[in-house]
Amino acid sequence: MNKKLIIVGGGYLGAELAKSLQNDLDVTLIDQRDAFVHVPAMIRAIVTPALLDKTLLPYSGLLSKGKFVKAKVTHIEEHGVTLEDGTQLSADYIVIATGSTNGIAFKPVGNSIDEFRNTVEETHAKLIAAKSIAIVGAGAVGTEMAGEIAQAMPDKTITLVSSETSLFPTMPDKFGHSLAKKLNEFGVEIKWGCKVENLKSTTQPYSGTLRLSDDTSIEADLIIPAIGSKAASHLSDSLPNVCKSSNDRVNVDEYLRPSSFANVFAAGDVADSKDAMTIVAISRQLPWLTKMFKALASDQDLPIDEVLRKMKPYSSWKKAPLLLPLGPEKGNSYLVIGTFGSWVTSKLKGKDLFISKYRKLFNL
Ligand SMILES: Cc1cc2nc3c(=O)[nH]c(=O)nc-3n(C[C@H](O)[C@H](O)[C@H](O)COP(=O)(O)OP(=O)(O)OC[C@H]3O[C@@H](n4cnc5c(N)ncnc54)[C@H](O)[C@@H]3O)c2cc1C
Repeated sequence: MNKKLIIVGGGYLGAELAKSLQNDLDVTLIDQRDAFVHVPAMIRAIVTPALLDKTLLPYSGLLSKGKFVKAKVTHIEEHGVTLEDGTQLSADYIVIATGSTNGIAFKPVGNSIDEFRNTVEETHAKLIAAKSIAIVGAGAVGTEMAGEIAQAMPDKTITLVSSETSLFPTMPDKFGHSLAKKLNEFGVEIKWGCKVENLKSTTQPYSGTLRLSDDTSIEADLIIPAIGSKAASHLSDSLPNVCKSSNDRVNVDEYLRPSSFANVFAAGDVADSKDAMTIVAISRQLPWLTKMFKALASDQDLPIDEVLRKMKPYSSWKKAPLLLPLGPEKGNSYLVIGTFGSWVTSKLKGKDLFISKYRKLFNL
């Protein structure tokens, strides 16, 4: 009989891992929502809400052999999890893949997909009504958001507030310079090296005045906070010897384990694997986890640590790729071998935003 694996959270890590292991282990994937949200497409969905129909993907089509349970997990122990209604499910192995939260129109907060759809549509309505827009945070999400709005709605006045003096300062100079030039050509003003001193909400769009650290201010009909993700890591609090790092991520050992339980793993945004909180990072963790669980499945009678010792520990990206579209046609990509411009970025990501890939994963 196959051993039982419970994966808590059906985001990028959980959904794909469950599908790749369903023939090797007795897999149960648990998520609080009934549909997967293809997050990178939400930036464009705020501009074009019709995209929601193609990017909210029901879990019902994901697994053929594994089991999907729609429920919120409230507690994790060494050999099982407890659901919100008190049901207990036992497991030999557990993966915590509860991910992170971000702005309310970028990623859902609770368990209702309908509510999330409404939030995106309401944000779109506010965007349509706004003449001036200020985006706070010039990381990947803020920069992409500025580009999406600017190319689709050229009549808007858009300001992007960056706390740095260049875009993506840890990337090769060409990458950030070229993106800044393209945004300028779209008419986006970038406020460099400024911190917002009175941000009213870190997750909800609102209208008002931003006071900046250079003593200037920006009045905007719509302020969109884009200041990063926060890990949804509270379930790990009950495990022994858990430590957290920045943004509430849980520290993990070289085999992606957050506690002294040998059979409990954590990966994706929730785990500080020394990778960034990205799908690109998950694309490196998934093959390692799949190989590791297949080894555990075929050596069922050996102690877990003995199987793991035979494997190469997980190693994070040294310098991860980054694809940054500014709408369907423009953008820049850093692909480790070099920096590429609009044509490559549009082909690899801008046009389709990997929607086809994830629809296929969900058998749509
Ligand atoms: C707007 C935006 C655009 C992005 N674009 C890109 C991009 O282009 N490329 C890139 O590499 N990265 C991108 N990212 C980052 C990417 O979205 C995250 O890295 C990714 O979502 C992390 O996946 P995950 O599986 O760790 O968690 P998540 O995707 O956050 O999924 C976690 C899942 O766990 C479930 N869950 C949480 N708690 C519980 C519980 N208690 N019980 C049951 N279920 C639970 C949630 O419902 C959710 O489905 C973007 C992020 C944002 C906000």
